[in-house]
Amino acid sequence: MQIWRKFSQILTLDKAAKKDGRNLIPTDISTIQNASVVFDDETIHWIGEDNDLPEKYLNIKSKSFEGHVLTPELVDGHTHLLFGGDRSLEYSMRLNGADYAEIAKTNGGILSTMRETNILESEKLFKVCIERIKTLINHGVGTIEIKSGYGLSFQKEYELSHIIYQLKQYFAPQVNIINTYMAAHAVPKEFLSSVDYMDKVVLPLMDKLNQEEIIDCVDIFHENGYFTYNDTEKLFDHAIKLGLPFKSHADEFSDNKGALLAATKGALSADHLLCTSKDGISALAKSKTVATLLPGTGFFLGKQQANARDFLDNGVRLSLATDYNPGSCHCDNLMMIASIAAPTLKLNQTELWSAITLNAAHAVGLTNQGAIVKGLAPRFSLFKAKNIDQITYHWGKNLAVNISKL
Ligand SMILES: [Zn+2]
Repeated sequence: MQIWRKFSQILTLDKAAKKDGRNLIPTDISTIQNASVVFDDETIHWIGEDNDLPEKYLNIKSKSFEGHVLTPELVDGHTHLLFGGDRSLEYSMRLNGADYAEIAKTNGGILSTMRETNILESEKLFKVCIERIKTLINHGVGTIEIKSGYGLSFQKEYELSHIIYQLKQYFAPQVNIINTYMAAHAVPKEFLSSVDYMDKVVLPLMDKLNQEEIIDCVDIFHENGYFTYNDTEKLFDHAIKLGLPFKSHADEFSDNKGALLAATKGALSADHLLCTSKDGISALAKSKTVATLLPGTGFFLGKQQANARDFLDNGVRLSLATDYNPGSCHCDNLMMIASIAAPTLKLNQTELWSAITLNAAHAVGLTNQGAIVKGLAPRFSLFKAKNIDQITYHWGKNLAVNISKL
């Protein structure tokens, strides 16, 4: 049994959890001052004001956390952090006015990431990811979803899913890694069509990895020029048959009815959603599928943002993630992205914190965490601050304390 006492504040998100993470108003925030929490490895047993701590816990050794805030665990539910190479030069070229074609001429773009990922041996990729994950952890994140998808051949994608599995073992149990299989990231040139690639690589490899019990979830880039509505439906149906959770990159550049399809089929989340129309939003609102927005990508590329209020005001469950990847959002700080995004996307404080904890957990299938209430799993993030207001206010300053080292 662990007894953590005297936090300046605990953000419980009790009301937000009771409201299913939807239709959240500022007074739903649920905080306790001078608060304590009692838990074991599996479950939270007690939470409340320190003055009310039951007598039976008073004689057990405890830790004191004055000057700290405890929140539900930050969850980064959308990353592509398993990649080789470095595209910093390409980013500078873009800032200096180069267009996509000029970057492609210098062998840049996603093809360069594929090339660099393919030439790196497993061991090197594993090591580079360990450092990236440590940075995310230092920013307060405790659950991280990692997608494969820069190998784009049967053999390399097999290897990438295994690397994520090894990372999962390496960081467990303090840090939870969700292994998402996304060979359906782009269609390699050597295949005749997306259907050809789906049939020869994506689906057979999914079967193999599922048999080996390596992967937790599957994902697809549902977009014009990548994978069609039919490909996506086929992938979802295959996942349903195997009993695997699934999600998609939906409606990012155009309205492909991606959110509609994901919600109708029961996906964990539909991500990006810049072009989703009313039918998609109302399907999401009626479903358990979480809308995951990735505002860092818009900031990084200087492009538009999804209209978060359209989703929120219609009762959709919304989460935010980094989209950490080498091309369109090279950022490993979820708290910073959320702090900057809140005024842009017009999120209130309850929506903001729920989007990176409670709803983000649901977006990766973790329904037994996301609020600090009795009976849920003890997954927390810790910050050196007096209250949550200080954390969102001082954007870019890392106030997180690495909880796995306690
Ligand atoms: Zn993505």
